[in-house]
Amino acid sequence: MAVQLSLGSNVGVRGRNLEAALAALGQLPETSLTRRSRVYETEPYGVREQPGFLNMAVEIETGLHPLELLEAIKAIEGRLGRRQAQRWGPREIDIDIVLWDDLILDTDTLTVPHPDFRQRAFVLIPLSEIAPEAVDPVTGRTVAQLAAQPGLQGQVLRLDTGD
Ligand code: ATP
Ligand code: CA
Ligand code: CA
Repeated sequence: MAVQLSLGSNVGVRGRNLEAALAALGQLPETSLTRRSRVYETEPYGVREQPGFLNMAVEIETGLHPLELLEAIKAIEGRLGRRQAQRWGPREIDIDIVLWDDLILDTDTLTVPHPDFRQRAFVLIPLSEIAPEAVDPVTGRTVAQLAAQPGLQGQVLRLDTGD
């Protein structure tokens, strides 16, 4: 299954945290990294008084079940030093599951598509690089359409120009 993830870091050496998270994701069972966006510098969301984030999007192919992937993500976040539980607060690494094919899921611990991704520039702009045609099964809109909406929240600035 193709799954799109959003990664963010605003504590420590942020670029290294992103790379370490990518490496760890690629080593999960039945999982490979298939696409990665460039890295963006973004302003904090929700809790404003904290350092800026680096954000990127990645696509994986995985045979894991959604709750298995969520557990694996939490383990990776913990290994990379994330201790603070504050929602939207500073963190070494944050890995969110944004889309999982046409799956719609709402449990106590996991909501897919990610409930807030449609208004977040720092999720949609990187994601539109790697999966513009991916469809949000809730609204029927593509990532490219969602990324083009006026009034997305949060400034994003592309860091690397590498093609
Ligand atoms: P937000 O989810 O609004 O971006 P956050 O990433 O700061 O906020 P966290 O503290 O990282 O929030 O996660 C809180 C909980 O959200 C996690 O423990 C997880 O169980 C749950 N969760 C629900 N849906 C998802 C999802 N699609 N991807 C990742 N975690 C999710
Ligand atoms: Ca998040
Ligand atoms: Ca999260």
